[in-house]
Order: sequence, then structure tokens, then C-alpha cells
Amino acid sequence: MGRKITVLRLGHRVVRDQRVSSHVALTARALGADEIVFAGDHDPALLESISKVVEKWGGGFKASYTQDWRRFLTERKAQGEYVVHLTMYGVGIQDVEEELREAYATRGIVLVVGSSKVPIEVYELADINVAVTNQPHSEIAALAIALDRIHQGKELTISYPDAKITIKPSRLGKLRKKKNSREEIN
Ligand code: SAM
Repeated sequence: MGRKITVLRLGHRVVRDQRVSSHVALTARALGADEIVFAGDHDPALLESISKVVEKWGGGFKASYTQDWRRFLTERKAQGEYVVHLTMYGVGIQDVEEELREAYATRGIVLVVGSSKVPIEVYELADINVAVTNQPHSEIAALAIALDRIHQGKELTISYPDAKITIKPSRLGKLRKKKNSREEIN
């Protein structure tokens, strides 16, 4: 199925990765992915915190957990989805971004990001290993740039009609608006 992006976040560790994993999910949602699947430790509190964000800020972003990322990736590949592993060892995103957009449009993409050491099988199971520079940095940054290259900036203006709260952009100050209310709150 085309036009779908799933982020697979490998190796989540309760407590240690709470903040980064939550930021991976928020970034995925804000920049136009459809769902995130966590592997590693099962962390219901993390899933709950993401669903609260969706309830308040809108959209249909889903968060779930898989006990078996190998099976998850194998099944998604069998369904025709294109598995893109983000790693500094891969080929430069600037050289393959059109291929990624084509796969997104026609097949759907699974974007895999790691936390600590990523097993070699992931590199082998992926349809492509893609680098956002060949320097070590962060899964959040790599994901953000990959989503932006796939969506070509269109994700910057996504809005959610079912949002309970929205931002009123302002150069100065801080303005939010509750749904069905003319009142602006700070
Ligand atoms: N040292 C770990 C390894 O070699 O498997 C990676 C740790 S890094 C903090 C966590 C994740 O960030 C990686 O698994 C990868 O998904 C992402 N990442 C870091 N640098 C990247 C880069 N230059 N390009 C693409 N992804 C990157």
C-alpha cells in the first residue's frame, strides 16, 4: 500500500530511552509518518503518552509495540513495503531520495531507526541502508531529514481538523486556541 510511512524504532529501553523514543515518535507524527512501532522493552507508559498527544493535537497517528522486529520486517516486506534502514553506513540520502519518494508513492515505506547497537541482520533485511551524512549523530535528526526529503517540505503545513487544540502562529508571544472557542489562551 502506497502513501504510508511506518517508523520502526529498535532497541527501546525503559527509563534510559524514554525521552529519545518519545521524541522519535513526536517527530514521526509531526513530520508526516503514519505510525510508529517500538521494539525492545515493552513500555505501555510510552504508548499511552503518544496516544494522549494524538488525542489532543489530532490526526490518526498510531503507536504500537512488536515483540519480534524480524517477523515484523519480514511481514511488511512480504506485503510489498520498502524497508529503509537509516544508518551512517548507508548510501547518502541525497543520492536515493527520488527512489524513496517512488517507493513511498507506490509501496509504502518502513523507516528503521536504532538506539544503541543495531544487529547486522537489520542491515541485511533492509531493502536499502540510507545515511543522512556518513557521520554519527541521532535517530531523531536522521528521521526528521529523511521525512522531509520524502515529503519535500509538504509536511511542514500538515494540519489536523480533529485537533482539540491548535497553535495560532505568532512572531511574538505564545498563542493557542481551543477547538470551537474564539478565546485564545496563553
Ligand atoms: N552506534 C549505533 C550503531 O552503530 O548501530 C548507532 C547509534 S545512533 C545514536 C542511533 C541511531 O541513529 C542509528 O541506529 C541510526 O538509525 C541513527 N543515525 C545516527 N547517525 C546516522 C546517520 N548519519 N545517518 C542515518 N542514521 C543515523
